[in-house]
Amino acid sequence: MSGFKLGILRLGRAAGKTKYALLDERDISLVEHFHFEAKLEVDRDGNGAKIYAYAYDVGRGRAFGQYLHELLWEKHCGGIAPGYKVIHKNSVTVDNRLENLELVPGSHSSGRSDEPFTKNREQSLYWVAIQQLPIDPLEDHLPERVRTKFYNANGEIVEEEDDSTCYYECHYAPCTNMERELREFSICGRCQQARYCGTYCQQRDWPMHKRYCREKRRPVITERPPER
Ligand SMILES: [Zn+2]
Ligand SMILES: [Zn+2]
Repeated sequence: MSGFKLGILRLGRAAGKTKYALLDERDISLVEHFHFEAKLEVDRDGNGAKIYAYAYDVGRGRAFGQYLHELLWEKHCGGIAPGYKVIHKNSVTVDNRLENLELVPGSHSSGRSDEPFTKNREQSLYWVAIQQLPIDPLEDHLPERVRTKFYNANGEIVEEEDDSTCYYECHYAPCTNMERELREFSICGRCQQARYCGTYCQQRDWPMHKRYCREKRRPVITERPPER
């Protein structure tokens, strides 16, 4: 991890976990003009959802926002012609280093089939980077209701829903597998909060997760005879 510098932005919680965006250090100054948040985009073709970094203008509000990868592309490489889109070469949709971005025709499929396995994700820059971060204090506050907001093209909230109808990303930080159907992933039996795409990820996440995993207690109902 020497020889280049990286910026890490905390995006907040989405799909059941805390997400960060990576970007080149030279682009960190964007924080002076933009707020950033994680945006869950549900695939219209029924392929689940993806999490992107979304940037909106501090002075003008959410109506003036766009995806961070599109903003960066326009800043460094010029406009995005109609029919084209910017994709993330390594399929990590929050890795917005310019070298990870590529302009492709809009018909280019970004299906899951070409995504690397989770084991490869453990070598990903995203994982290496976020391991350097101090523990996220937000993780302490489970359970919290996670609200997912959906925006239209003008940045207006069109729908807002809580986590009962939300797709989850595998809770193991380097894994970016996302549910394709609601409740597809298995849930941690102890806290009933963390969700995993499989036992590999659950086992790998346990050393970290056990620090926050709190057994979900069922409400204790004590029955007493009515007092007279
Ligand atoms: Zn996973
Ligand atoms: Zn748990």
